[in-house]
Amino acid sequence: MNAQQPVPVTGRPGSVLHGVIALDGPSGTGKSTVSRSLAQRLGAGYLDTGAMYRAATLAVLRAGLAPDSPEAARLAAAADVRVGTDPGAPTVRLGEEDVAAEIRGAQVTGAVSAISAHPEVRDRLVVQQRGIIDGAGTGIVVEGRDIGTVVVPVAGLKIYLTASEEVRAARRDGQDRAAGRGADLAATLLAVQRRDTLDSGRAVSPLRPASDAVVVDTSELDVAAVLDRVIALAERRGLLAGQPDPSR
Ligand code: C5P
Repeated sequence: MNAQQPVPVTGRPGSVLHGVIALDGPSGTGKSTVSRSLAQRLGAGYLDTGAMYRAATLAVLRAGLAPDSPEAARLAAAADVRVGTDPGAPTVRLGEEDVAAEIRGAQVTGAVSAISAHPEVRDRLVVQQRGIIDGAGTGIVVEGRDIGTVVVPVAGLKIYLTASEEVRAARRDGQDRAAGRGADLAATLLAVQRRDTLDSGRAVSPLRPASDAVVVDTSELDVAAVLDRVIALAERRGLLAGQPDPSR
């Protein structure tokens, strides 16, 4: 599994998501690819909460503030972060400005864990995320680190994706190369390990599976296999119903 783009939409007719699927896990597990593809297949919305923390981080870096400072926390919490929920064309903006490409760069990736550890930043973004989820209509797939534990603890299905560090670093490296960002596998492995340590070690909403999450190890699975497994679980939970929305 190494593409960040969604796989082709081949969902069985009639499968439309009602409710929330929460997808959590560390970086490089395939969360974005799986979440977007799942949302497309199930006629649902898609919310990338990591993109919100990244956009808030970009605002801090542009202001020249140290990410772990109280000023950075205040600025990040007040940033005008706007995200779209169309899985076919997700958008991320700071005010009116499209920052989708810039938030994937090494500078933001290196600073985002410090920004996301500030309680006031999390408080603000979680409120915004819940507003988006509540307004999403019938169904939405939400990806992040604390979706099943904090943002939507009542989600109908919680998935926690894992994969070995080596596999995750190799996927990130492939994505960086494909996006022309230049890559170094050893440095990417170190960056992945550092971010995991920070995200799972922070005091507020640390990365961890919810007690009722289904853990799926994607090390040996391709995207289609992960999708099949998640869709089968959603079906079993009674989250799929109705007719697909022809506009999606
Ligand atoms: O998913 P992505 O790698 O884009 O997330 C970037 C960072 O945002 C994570 O490393 C983490 O620090 C933070 N994050 C978070 N809670 C979320 C989503 C992302 O703390 N729900």
